[in-house]
Amino acid sequence: MKQLPNAFREALFIIQTIEAAGHQAYFVGGCVRDLFLQRSIGDIDITTSATPEVILELFDQVIPVGIEHGTVIVRHAHVSYEVTTFRVEGKYSDQRHPDSVEFIEKIDKDLERRDFTINALAMDKNGTIIDLFQGEEDLKRHLIRTVGNGVDRFKEDPLRILRAIRFSSQLGFSIEEETKQAILAVKPNLEGLAIERITKELQKTFAGDSVTNGLNYIHELEIDKHLPVLKELPLLQVLPRPIKPLQSLAEVVCLIHSLKQDLSIRAITRNWKCSNKIVKESLQLHEAICYYKLHGLDNWLVYQLLPDLHNSFSRLTDILFPKKVETIQLASLLDSLPIKHRSEIKINGNDLVSMFPNETKGPWIQKLLTAIEKQVVLGNIRNETSLIKDWIKWNPPVTN
Ligand code: ATP
Ligand code: MG
Repeated sequence: MKQLPNAFREALFIIQTIEAAGHQAYFVGGCVRDLFLQRSIGDIDITTSATPEVILELFDQVIPVGIEHGTVIVRHAHVSYEVTTFRVEGKYSDQRHPDSVEFIEKIDKDLERRDFTINALAMDKNGTIIDLFQGEEDLKRHLIRTVGNGVDRFKEDPLRILRAIRFSSQLGFSIEEETKQAILAVKPNLEGLAIERITKELQKTFAGDSVTNGLNYIHELEIDKHLPVLKELPLLQVLPRPIKPLQSLAEVVCLIHSLKQDLSIRAITRNWKCSNKIVKESLQLHEAICYYKLHGLDNWLVYQLLPDLHNSFSRLTDILFPKKVETIQLASLLDSLPIKHRSEIKINGNDLVSMFPNETKGPWIQKLLTAIEKQVVLGNIRNETSLIKDWIKWNPPVTN
């Protein structure tokens, strides 16, 4: 066996500590799958026969995040590891959490409760794989297949339908035929899921390297008919061309609104229960896209667009316009701006008031400052007090 990658070796301490106390412990799930596929490893998850109480005693830094479901976080050398006790699950009657979990002694039933064969692999400290459901074979064949009967598994937790789509998008895999049929049979149950769970999976689907693969499945299996927002538009048909991965949900919101204007950003983000941050970013991106449509790329656009949104804006232009705006264009424009912030303007509200002593104070001050700001940013007036004052004389404030 080749030496394990660093991320795994750093986690060995946890497995060894648990084993030294007389229990079993394995790497499990996504990390084993991604190791096989030579993808970058996300989180390292560990499954163990030790109960959460034992784990709490064995390690100094343990966060009991989901202790009743058998999950705790162990911190070691500044990294968090999810450590979950072998368990079998009861029914998911609220479609969010299993009603009950039972801790067990052996790993086999724990692997059996996992969603897909490619996610049901475990690996011991020496790199030996436990593969009870031909997960390795499916990894080689690029197949997403449920562990056990698809209809039963999707009924237990319909979120698995969206996870299948999400993995098809992240990994570029196909959904195995029987699993596909099971999705068709159970997809109406998606409507009972908590929106936050749906949105999380959709976000990962849109960000996957093979996003078109995922979108094709959503379309082919008509899953969109049962999903908030997507039920309102045949996304694949209204997209001007195949898209590249969209890294944030705000981009997806802005894209959908651009493709179907009567779906407002407020409505989309409400239906998807997005955070305020996503709402704000979506609105800002939308404003930039509208401005770009009218004026093209100029100083004012870059001045107003937060640098954090450069990548998002660039990816959106790639879909919505004939030519993509590259982030390097945005960065170099930003670099050459005459000012970066309003406070740098060489005139302020008080100066304006003293220029027009007969006018009562009012909204005209802000309006004029914004007009000046725009002229300075666009390079139409140099940022010098006397030149700005000259400009004001020719463009006096509209007051009433
Ligand atoms: P990621 O790279 O996104 O972390 P992952 O496969 O690790 O992918 P997680 O959501 O972190 O996915 O879940 C960890 C493991 O737990 C999965 O690999 C799978 O074995 C199991 N799992 C997660 N969610 C479910 C579910 N809804 N039903 C059954 N098993 C699940
Ligand atoms: Mg994971």
